[in-house]
Amino acid sequence: MVTYEIRCIECGESHDPTRPAYACTSCGGLLEAVIDEKEAAQALDEGAFRDRPLSVWRYREAIPVDDISKVASLREGGTPLIRCRRLGEEFGLESLWIKFDGTNPTGSFKDRGMTVGVTKALELGMTTVACASTGNTSASLAAYAALADLDCVVLIPEGNVALGKLAQAMMHGADVLSVRGNFDQALDVVMEASEKLGLYVLNSVNPFRIEGQKTAAYEICDQLKGVTPEALYIPVGNGGNSVAYWKGFKEYDSMDLTSGCPTMRGIQAEGAAPIAAMFEEGSDHMKPVEEPETVATAIRIGNPANWKKTVRALKESGGHASTVTDDEILEAQKFMARLEGIFPEPAGAAALAGLIKDVEEDLADRSAVTVCVSTGHGLKDPDTAIRQSAEPRTIEASVEALSKLLGGDGR
Ligand SMILES: *Cc1c(COP(=O)(O)O)cnc(C)c1O
Ligand SMILES: [Zn+2]
Repeated sequence: MVTYEIRCIECGESHDPTRPAYACTSCGGLLEAVIDEKEAAQALDEGAFRDRPLSVWRYREAIPVDDISKVASLREGGTPLIRCRRLGEEFGLESLWIKFDGTNPTGSFKDRGMTVGVTKALELGMTTVACASTGNTSASLAAYAALADLDCVVLIPEGNVALGKLAQAMMHGADVLSVRGNFDQALDVVMEASEKLGLYVLNSVNPFRIEGQKTAAYEICDQLKGVTPEALYIPVGNGGNSVAYWKGFKEYDSMDLTSGCPTMRGIQAEGAAPIAAMFEEGSDHMKPVEEPETVATAIRIGNPANWKKTVRALKESGGHASTVTDDEILEAQKFMARLEGIFPEPAGAAALAGLIKDVEEDLADRSAVTVCVSTGHGLKDPDTAIRQSAEPRTIEASVEALSKLLGGDGR
């Protein structure tokens, strides 16, 4: 097991890793796992990690769990990095890639974090796991809890969860509770109840989730054969994934497994963009959005729990956060589906929407190796897809009818 510490990002205080912790007991700051990179690099090398299949656990020596044989895994990670030639031509980009994390076992990147987080729940001897969720976190947690034989409670904001995600959480046997309120309010309830009710919380304030999610950045460097992308576009909800990618790139660079880090662009939906507003206004304080609204329900977050870490990561990378409209998101979703055969849920198209906007405003380097992170699968939210599509046309069951419809020239 890699040597690591659970440390407060504000005051640096170290916390006991054998007890559940989501915030600093001294100052309330966010916690992060700090691994011994030297030790991890050496152990990865000795473990001949490159001979293992691309996956989260390919990098086991850099992930802080106690016993690799006790991992709860559904074979997460190892998702495709797709070279987008048609999209690249459409927007004049020489080297455009999409990391399609919607191909994870439950259809979103959340699985990368849950395999580590649920393994940690087992190590800590917890019997009930919980989360507040806009959908994908609950779908993923429910699946891993089923695998690990843990009780699972998920709190979802009433009426605002995409159909596929709800179906998943229910099918995997979680206690699904619909909260009268939005995501931010549901998260407050779970956090406050955690100690009292003995719940192990697997929202992205849990530092171990980030440790699984960071492997997506490792994978990208390996898939590009050691080349680090120059620009990375990523959707931002609570911000945990941006933090995880940045941590992953930095660690991979420190471990000499790649060289350099990308500039990161965090993309938020216009109706739920408190972090982008900070960059716009040059402010150091986040003003929560009271009633966040966007078609991309996975990033419909008004009060991002990880905002401090996220802002720090984006700035450190030399990047920033910006916004896209719902129309721009839905247009990017169609571009991905029609030019590349990739079907993301709306939040999974937000990164590309951000890039397209940057290209149009002449803010993007067209020759740079650019990766857009597509976070979730389109089948998660069939309602939104169908709403934007034309209805199927009905014909008689005859060749004449078909021929007439196709233009009547007997093609
Ligand atoms: C969770 C999620 C996001 C947002 O990730 P954060 O870590 O909260 O920023 C974006 N897209 C999809 C599909 C998600 O499930
Ligand atoms: Zn602290």
